[in-house]
Amino acid sequence: MELKICHLYPEVLNLYGDRGNILCLQKRLEWRGIPCEVTSLKIGEKADLSQFDLFFIGGGQDFEQEVLLGDLRAGKGAEIRAAIEDGRTFLCICGGYQMLGHYYQTADGVKCEFLGAVDLYTVGARERMIGNYAFRLGEESGGSVVVGFENHSGKTYLGQGVLPLGTVMKGYGNNGEDQTEGVRYKNVFGSYSHGPILPKNPLLCDVILESALTRKYGSASLEPLPDAFEVRAHETVLERVMGS
Ligand code: GLN
Repeated sequence: MELKICHLYPEVLNLYGDRGNILCLQKRLEWRGIPCEVTSLKIGEKADLSQFDLFFIGGGQDFEQEVLLGDLRAGKGAEIRAAIEDGRTFLCICGGYQMLGHYYQTADGVKCEFLGAVDLYTVGARERMIGNYAFRLGEESGGSVVVGFENHSGKTYLGQGVLPLGTVMKGYGNNGEDQTEGVRYKNVFGSYSHGPILPKNPLLCDVILESALTRKYGSASLEPLPDAFEVRAHETVLERVMGS
């Protein structure tokens, strides 16, 4: 077994240590003796995306999201849509998550036409949604509790029948209105959670890895790791978030 990971737009979409998600994916594979290779793909760089099993896209400011629109239109957008429909695994955070939807209308009135790979759209609000937060994953994503940090102006709304990644326990999530957080579509995991999300939510990391391994090899069951420190970090943050 092995996984090929593609880090899309690392030079523009990497807020609040989002790259730590790549390190976490790598480490949790390595600790189980599963090799993995990470390829970074920047604006203007081309590669056959069908060679990758797992994609990561981090968050970015409005300006940075606008900067990569041309590159999406030049071909990568169509390839990303095809990879999603083909069941490849994606973890997309904040600005990267918004990019999956139809569009992002910024609070300054700029309309970014995005991928339309998942039925959702985002509208910028004047008041930013900032803070540590917690949500419970849907059953299809393992049902565990996730802690994270959000900082966005965009309010995301899911199309009818589109599953959120989870339900907000504390904080704003997609829009601060309907208790939804993120999206789960096929093997796409979209979330507003920076921080990065995976090191302090190892159960989610393993669900994501298993989705990529299952797609590639038909089935996958990862052996448990001694996660004492990760669990302590998770529980400490959760106590603080829920107590605040
Ligand atoms: N620019 C987007 C927003 O403010 C995304 C921000 C982010 O990735 N943190 O909604």
